[in-house]
Amino acid sequence: MKFFPEKLSIPDRRMHPFIDPDEIWRYINEMKPDRVRVREIISKSLAKNRLTLAETAMLVNTTDNDLVEEIKAGARELKEKVYGNRIVLFAPLYVGNRCSNNCKYCGFRASNTNALRKTLSDEEIVSEVEALEDNGQKRLILVYGEHKEYSAEYIAHTVRLVYGVKKGQGEIRRVNINAAPFDIDGFRTIGKSGIGTYQVFQETYHPEAYTWYHLGGKKADYEWRLTSLDRAQEAGIDDVGIGALFGLYDWRFEVLGLVRHTNHLEACYNIGPHTISFPRIKDAAMLDMDGRYMVSDDDFMKLVAILRLAVPYTGLILTAREDPDVRREVLRYGVSQIDGGTKIELGSYSDIRNEAQNLNKEQFKIADERSLAEVIDELLSTGYLPSFCTSCYRMGRTGEHFMEFSVPGFIKRFCTPNAILTLSEYICDYAGPDLAAKGWAAIEREVSVLDPAVAQATRDRIDKIRKGERDLYF
Ligand code: SAM
Ligand code: SF4
Repeated sequence: MKFFPEKLSIPDRRMHPFIDPDEIWRYINEMKPDRVRVREIISKSLAKNRLTLAETAMLVNTTDNDLVEEIKAGARELKEKVYGNRIVLFAPLYVGNRCSNNCKYCGFRASNTNALRKTLSDEEIVSEVEALEDNGQKRLILVYGEHKEYSAEYIAHTVRLVYGVKKGQGEIRRVNINAAPFDIDGFRTIGKSGIGTYQVFQETYHPEAYTWYHLGGKKADYEWRLTSLDRAQEAGIDDVGIGALFGLYDWRFEVLGLVRHTNHLEACYNIGPHTISFPRIKDAAMLDMDGRYMVSDDDFMKLVAILRLAVPYTGLILTAREDPDVRREVLRYGVSQIDGGTKIELGSYSDIRNEAQNLNKEQFKIADERSLAEVIDELLSTGYLPSFCTSCYRMGRTGEHFMEFSVPGFIKRFCTPNAILTLSEYICDYAGPDLAAKGWAAIEREVSVLDPAVAQATRDRIDKIRKGERDLYF
């Protein structure tokens, strides 16, 4: 495998593998934490600057408890000061679990002959989306195995199908994708269907570990996967999400890998990833792990705080793989999106039997099975503002996360009012009386601290929503 020499020009770096494991290990081995430096690095991030690999390496090497607490406090401060208290909500929708790959950590791997394979029919997709809309969802991520049945055309078809489902006041306003990587033409086809974010996780950035875990199929090709979002960018998809599956290899390496990937996309395409995901390995059928690298809760909190500081303007996604207690804690360190009311068995949103999780039907075990209403209730009780906003995506304001971060007043003018309006819709259409009371109280609190003109415009729109108008945004 060839890594790009520093002398390559930016255009030449495109499509080129950008991870040099020796370089990453050199940083980890050499950057010994120093109290003064760690504090300077935290301050640099609080001044809204992305951290270098060397700086990130110093943070991942920090083990002194007091200093780790300072890193976490820095992440909390950055989140509170820059992003405020909004949390965007979404749900995953598994469309098909056929898969020709053999990833040792995944219940859908081809060699799991006990897995119950299913691809939702168009009718089933519609039923699932209707059930999701009935719960109040507005943003979905569609998930697919890697299989010839799931061609770019098929994925584009399912995206269009989902956008077309309207039940009552319900509609899905943003469809994101988590699917195998395609070639440039394939990405172009999918891009035209109007997706929000295209997510592909590298799983592990370490080439040898990658080879150990990925036994067969197209996904066994590390470089094809590593350069997938370059191809997406070339195909015009500039809203992409990256991620690492924590537990496959040393978490410190993966954090640096994610930062490297971010740098690469920024350098080559002038736009970093919209989101970073950091799933932790959960139980799955035929799970086959090198157990040395499992990530403890403490390290998990720490790594999320470090990611927040390292890439201050990138969205961070936390999923229902984690239990409610862990979610509650990690949320404080800078997470911007979570799922709620999640079910990952195919067809389970519309299945009223509500069966227990079965690992031959699911990719892995989830630990937060609360309904969307319960998640929203907890968010409101703990001072967060739940949001279903999709405004930037629909107004063509790409790079919204960067705008939120860098454009003075953007959050107060756009994000908070839009969060309030989408929460108002949710309350009117889906909330029971107790949750509604809690929601309106939170909305009143939030509106009262907005700039008077924005507050008035927001109140006017809330009145319209109460009278039945929908989809009002700034
Ligand atoms: N087939 C697509 C692919 O491989 O890119 C979609 C992947 S999967 C449906 C979404 C993500 O779930 C994977 O990229 C992986 O990071 C994660 N995942 C797989 N097995 C897992 C497990 N046992 N525990 C937690 N996350 C897992
Ligand atoms: Fe297939 Fe994705 Fe599971 Fe790998 S992680 S076996 S590619 S569904």
